[in-house]
Amino acid sequence: MRRSLLALTLCSACLGLTAGTEAYLKLGTEVGGRIVPLRWIQQPIRYFVTNRDVSGVTAIELQTAVARAFASWSGVSTAVVSAQFAGFTGSDPFVEDAASVIGFRSRPDLEHVLGSTRFELDAVTGEILASDIFLNAAFQWSVAAGGQASRYDVESIALHEIGHLLGLSHSALGETEVLGPESRRVIAKRAVMFPIAYPAGNIDDRTLEADDVAGVSDIYSSAAFNRSFGSISGRVTLNGVGVFGAHIVAFNPGTGVTTGTFSLTSRGDFVLAGLSPGAYVVRAEPLDDADLDGFFDSTAGVNINFRPAYASKLAVVPAGGSGGTIEIRVPSK
Ligand SMILES: [Zn+2]
Repeated sequence: MRRSLLALTLCSACLGLTAGTEAYLKLGTEVGGRIVPLRWIQQPIRYFVTNRDVSGVTAIELQTAVARAFASWSGVSTAVVSAQFAGFTGSDPFVEDAASVIGFRSRPDLEHVLGSTRFELDAVTGEILASDIFLNAAFQWSVAAGGQASRYDVESIALHEIGHLLGLSHSALGETEVLGPESRRVIAKRAVMFPIAYPAGNIDDRTLEADDVAGVSDIYSSAAFNRSFGSISGRVTLNGVGVFGAHIVAFNPGTGVTTGTFSLTSRGDFVLAGLSPGAYVVRAEPLDDADLDGFFDSTAGVNINFRPAYASKLAVVPAGGSGGTIEIRVPSK
């Protein structure tokens, strides 16, 4: 049967373009008027690696680093993710061929883009059928164990792009400083899925953070995850009307872990899943010091004209259940 395909390209791991405050976001596609999350049904995910060396990185070194990055995602105990290297290929990524291909491409025109991920989807179910990743060979790359000055770390950027390949969008858990027009530097981040990469030479993004783990566990939850972790759901409203695109942050004072998401319906509904049991302080805030393009395909409906507000009481998350529904009423600016 011929499948109806949808191609989707995501520019990501940009260099110094957006800033954020805090959280994970899932990719979705619209099917019959509702948003269906993107996910792989067929596992293991079989991927090919383009058989081409670039300066500083051979195809075999690329494959080894990519395999480590996949292993980091597969190693999340609360998610069911598996991937398998299918072999080297002469094909380039971003060619429509129904295979998942990861490799280098030289795109000097994309001067802020270290890597990018693209999908072939079943347009009816949102199932990911294939996904390609390219790393931009216009930059200098390294696979050195401890990183290498002035070169971007293949495994770190691959880990971010594979997060997209699995269906995750960007997280806003990071802080940046402005260096100049269209240029920002990461000061700190609490998510590999933050849209801005660390500077060249840094290897911190080889390690997933709590927000990344919560995101992948939400999409590919294991039975153990469903038993052990809980969720908070609710609405963000302004004068009784739902707020789309509000950033919701849950902080657990007991563990110090912060997780976030966005309200993604016109009713202002949100769900924060993948939370360890405990009491959470929940806050809604506008995404007003960030480039909205880094988070939303269409920014038309995103409301940033309100002031941050806290939920009126702590949300208590039980193991394997929901902490109930809360409404966060935000005041206008
Ligand atoms: Zn990205």
